[in-house]
Amino acid sequence: MSKAPASVEFRNVTKAYGQVVAVDDVSFVIPPANLVTLLGPSGCGKTTCLRMIAGLEMATKGQIVIGGKDVTHLSAADRDVSMVFQSYALFPHMSVLDNAAYGPSVQGVPKERARELAMEKLTMLGLNGMEHRLPSELSGGQQQRVAIARALVLEPQVLLFDEPLSNLDAKLRRRVREEIRELQPTL
Ligand code: ADP
Ligand code: MG
Repeated sequence: MSKAPASVEFRNVTKAYGQVVAVDDVSFVIPPANLVTLLGPSGCGKTTCLRMIAGLEMATKGQIVIGGKDVTHLSAADRDVSMVFQSYALFPHMSVLDNAAYGPSVQGVPKERARELAMEKLTMLGLNGMEHRLPSELSGGQQQRVAIARALVLEPQVLLFDEPLSNLDAKLRRRVREEIRELQPTL
């Protein structure tokens, strides 16, 4: 199931919502397996860039290339990209395990196998023993790690985080930052 990490390229990408230009003629190349941060003031277009990489928003102009393939017009389901949202966006009525197993389950992986894959990632993130809890029974940092496990379980070619540390206190922030760093594949 393991795939190679992919490069991400923007070629003169613009995103407009009516009169509002959220992203204005942006170009960059991120080589595979690189950890890159978009830094800028609130409202400058960071989230919109991530959502366009994920296929959750379509570019108004320009091209988006992932792993050398033009994905500009592909939907999110047809891109091998996972995104961890600032709000975690866990399913509140589902256990930690079922949250983490969600991606492979909807892709048709048999339930037991999906849970096995999910357990691997939960264990890697230090959540062993918490798999039967509900998200509301976890701390903020633990919920954030469930969201990361859920994004990792599909072993995506590109992994996006939208302000993953902003809801955490200073101590957890340091720890989760190190955990994210450790996830990074080496080529
Ligand atoms: P950041 O993540 O850097 O704070 P965003 O990408 O969320 O910035 O937003 C960039 C700009 O686009 C902002 O001016 C924001 O108000 C606007 N914007 C974002 N999403 C929408 C939307 N769905 N409709 C209209 N304007 C939007
Ligand atoms: Mg944002």
